[in-house]
This record gives sequence, structure tokens and C-alpha cells, in this order.
Amino acid sequence: MALSSADTDLESLPRLPEPPVADLSFLDKVVAATPGVPRLEMCIQCGTCGGSCPSAADMEHTPRQIFAMIRAGMSDEVLRSNTPWFCVACYYCMVRCPQEVHIPDVMYTLKSLAIRAGLYENAAGPHLSQTFSGYVEKYGRSFEFGLATRHYLRHHPISMRGMAPLGLGMLTKDRLTFTPVRIKGLKGLKAILARARELEEAAR
Ligand code: SF4
Ligand code: SF4
Repeated sequence: MALSSADTDLESLPRLPEPPVADLSFLDKVVAATPGVPRLEMCIQCGTCGGSCPSAADMEHTPRQIFAMIRAGMSDEVLRSNTPWFCVACYYCMVRCPQEVHIPDVMYTLKSLAIRAGLYENAAGPHLSQTFSGYVEKYGRSFEFGLATRHYLRHHPISMRGMAPLGLGMLTKDRLTFTPVRIKGLKGLKAILARARELEEAAR
């Protein structure tokens, strides 16, 4: 049957609602703040990362959910989530990701953005990260005994006694040192860190 001119007149058809415009500004911000090329926009939501993650059971959102929330522009919810703080940077998700998304690097970025925005719910993770980076800046490496002692005194004083036998055992077997050890070439490392800070400030 031949179509009449009214059938083919597109102007006469009812207008469909405009599709929602995705707000990708938070995605762009996270990508820009992550060193290298994190490939975050390549995520296909397959869920392999969450299924591989040893910390997933303690995370409020799986890495896959976090990446969907970033794409949806849910910056507050993402930066309040405990997920990045439970990432132990084991890189297992990254080696299994079919899209080669640099998942642990994105988690580091989210921690940094959450600290700057003051949006984390539990301060234990941020305090541990800040103490760790303070030792690295001062001595060129971590000081595990000081890190653990400060962390337990500040956030888990009651359970600290229970950790004492483990700490003493590690000290007597030379797995920990009582005092921090400075690396050689600390001056060079400090210069690198200062330059990195300058570049970070310039990129903001
Ligand atoms: S494994 Fe990779 S592609 Fe799959 S959900 Fe995780 S980040 Fe996205
Ligand atoms: S790197 Fe982080 S997010 Fe990835 S599997 Fe390890 S703990 Fe989970």
C-alpha cells in the first residue's frame, strides 16, 4: 500500500522527549587527576574487578558500581564511599580487567579527592594514608612500627593490647625496626616530590 504524504510528513509526528544529557564532568575530573591514561571511560561494567577483589565484602560499593557512579556524576556519593579506603592496591582487578582500566590508580585518585573535599566518613583510612606519606617524605620510606602504633593509638586504642604480641614478634625477628631508617639519596627524592607537588598544583 502506498504511503500518503501525511504518513511521511515528519513534522506532523508527535515530538519525543529529549534524551537526558549525561554529566561527564566528574568522570573528566577523575581522569585528569589520575596519572597516565587510566582508561576509565573504557569500562564496560562487566564486574570482573569486584568479583576478583579481596576487599569487596567490606566495600560499600564494588569498583564496578563506583565507576558507574562516577560516570553518572555522583561525586558526593563516590567521595563518601568507603570503597577506595578498602582498596589494598593488590592490582588483581587490573590484571583481569578486559578493558585494562587502571583501577588501583583511580582508587588512589578518589582517596586524594575525598581528602581534599573532606568527604570521607571514617577518618581512619585518610589518617593512615597521611601518616604513611609523611614518613615517606621525611625518611624516603615507610616506618611500619610508627605507622601501626600511631594508627592503633588514634583509632583502636582498646584493641592495641591484642596486637602487642604480633608487633613484638615482628620486632624480635627483624621484620620491623624500632626507629625509622632513612634512605640514601633522600635529597633527590625530596626534590622529585616537590616538583610533583608543583605540577599537581599547576594542573588544578
Ligand atoms: S573489570 Fe574493568 S571493564 Fe569490568 S567493570 Fe571492572 S573496570 Fe569495568
Ligand atoms: S587493587 Fe584494590 S580494587 Fe583492585 S582487587 Fe586489589 S583491593 Fe580490590
